[in-house]
Amino acid sequence: MNVKTFILFIILLSSINSSSQDINANYKVRVIPIELLSKDASLSKIGYGTSITSEYKINNYLRDTIVFTVNNAVRDFGPSNLKIIAKNLSSLKTERLDYKYDGYNLYVFLKADIGSCFYLSLQYTYIGTSFMSVPESNRRNIVIFGGDESFEHFTQMFFLPKKIILHNETLRLYNDTNLKAFSTLSEIKRNTKYIEYKFHEKDAINNLSVILIDSNIYHSVVKFINKRKYFFYIRNQNLTIFENNIKKITSKLKILDEYQFSKSDFHIIEFDWRNKKNVKGRTYSDIMLIDISFLSKHYSSFIHEYLHSILNIKYKNTSRNGFYLINESLIEYLAQYIYYHDSISKFNSYFKSKENGCEKDSVKLFNLKSNTAATFSSVYNCGPIYFYKMAKSIGFHQFFNIAITFFIQNKEKSFDTLISSLKKKKVDDEIIDKFMNSVK
Ligand SMILES: [Zn+2]
Repeated sequence: MNVKTFILFIILLSSINSSSQDINANYKVRVIPIELLSKDASLSKIGYGTSITSEYKINNYLRDTIVFTVNNAVRDFGPSNLKIIAKNLSSLKTERLDYKYDGYNLYVFLKADIGSCFYLSLQYTYIGTSFMSVPESNRRNIVIFGGDESFEHFTQMFFLPKKIILHNETLRLYNDTNLKAFSTLSEIKRNTKYIEYKFHEKDAINNLSVILIDSNIYHSVVKFINKRKYFFYIRNQNLTIFENNIKKITSKLKILDEYQFSKSDFHIIEFDWRNKKNVKGRTYSDIMLIDISFLSKHYSSFIHEYLHSILNIKYKNTSRNGFYLINESLIEYLAQYIYYHDSISKFNSYFKSKENGCEKDSVKLFNLKSNTAATFSSVYNCGPIYFYKMAKSIGFHQFFNIAITFFIQNKEKSFDTLISSLKKKKVDDEIIDKFMNSVK
């Protein structure tokens, strides 16, 4: 169990300083096999790169420099391939512009004959750090933009104008017809050449991803779980594994049938998402990415990710007290309960086996502001034990019911709202106090 990693969304909130200047921005991303972009053999495992054009329509701009920025200065992007072109809006005259890039900011020097109303286009190829690491074995099967580490954030691919209000931003994704796209962005247009999304930088930093899968290799299989429609995307070689195991997982999830969840379609994509030590899964609202082993042996990890989705957990305000306790430790506890609920003796032994490693755990989960490899065991092994102990006093099924109802009924899924749910259900103050003392 402790070799698994549940992926967390690290949220960096950044702000755009306001000013009177408005800009319409279109980001065009063309997905291209890496060998067509670079001869560098060390990049070959990335699989795909991108050719990007950012277009900005600018009105009444009176200064002689525009400054763009990136959220973190860790791009592999080399300024040598950057081409910046301005086009006067009335004369349509175009000019290539000079710039200075210091790794953090890009200063674009405007020329007088461009005027105050113009189009600005930034063209460059982008390879690397924004792509979540995908094992070499299936690099041609899946492309993922946006990851959980700040350097993988989707917005790292783009230069964002500083001190300017962006509005009316769109993202156009051009890709091979064999690649099927999924995204957390809202789609506004789709044709044979591209898919157009609404793109807001603020959304992007929270929970944003674009995922492309090779439709020649993936099969879509529809299953109903807890009255919701699930589209599973499974590669040829794993179809048998999937069919042999999915019944076992869905039968475990029957315990959730009595609860009302939202009924939107849902997409689950498997791939070999692992390294030596970890296998991973992540949920982006209605898209779930999982290692294939979640469907063959790590069932409780599948249930954990499924709960993230069905209980509608949003990765905002991770710095709030109790965030990881509620949104990870409690979810993990519930996943274990669902997995073992038909054998309470196995459920008890599971937590008994975790106890030793947690006796000396000094992490106070209530105060945890970020979750890293160093806090992994506290969050996923020890946190669930505190819930287990409380649930044992309340009654396992009674606590399960309180917790699931708490997630469904509260938009604000916080530590305080959980405590008040417990009090409303007349849980003894003594039990609640004991729990609070263990985590604070
Ligand atoms: Zn999780």
